[in-house]
Amino acid sequence: MKRLLDGYAKFHREVFPQWKDRFHLLAEMQKPDVLFITCADSRVVPTMICQTEPGDMFLCRTVGNVVPPHGYLPGGVSSTVEYAVEVLHVRDIIVCGHSDCGAVKAVFDQRDLSRLPLTAKWLGLLEPAWKYLDPACGSDGPSRYKGLIHGNVVAQVEHLRTHPEVARRVAEGTLALHGWYYDILTGSVESYDGTERRFVPLESLTTE
Ligand SMILES: [Zn+2]
Repeated sequence: MKRLLDGYAKFHREVFPQWKDRFHLLAEMQKPDVLFITCADSRVVPTMICQTEPGDMFLCRTVGNVVPPHGYLPGGVSSTVEYAVEVLHVRDIIVCGHSDCGAVKAVFDQRDLSRLPLTAKWLGLLEPAWKYLDPACGSDGPSRYKGLIHGNVVAQVEHLRTHPEVARRVAEGTLALHGWYYDILTGSVESYDGTERRFVPLESLTTE
């Protein structure tokens, strides 16, 4: 905890003054263009990966970057999606999985989660990942595990599509959904190409 308190002291003393003008503009409104949904994992830092600034991205972090399908629960993730789409009018939603994801590993290894009933229920939402297991990753253990992480990204993007407000905006052409995979070791991002049904290096995609 001491590190955090020291960090805050430095932020308040040295960093915030440099950002004062920006936060003055942001103090009473935000207009992020992107909703970024990723795992709660401490090693995935979306604002660092995308080099964004305060106010740029609406963030949602959940164990296993799970997005429950519409109607599952009026939970935090679904309400975050609804708010981002209906009120903030974000233009893009990114679902970002990552290497060495413990949530996907638990499903991959079919671990006994009887002592963690809430986690077990939550990770049930990760099971559809098997349907989208990425064969391009290979068939040995570690490769299949990566393939399941890829599959989970696709599965959670599909869950997103079941939300009526998301489906409507996608049909209107005012909202785009993206599936990303972040590699902690290399800092590289792969993006799911829905047409080719495969993950490709993010830098190979052209931006509009
Ligand atoms: Zn994770």
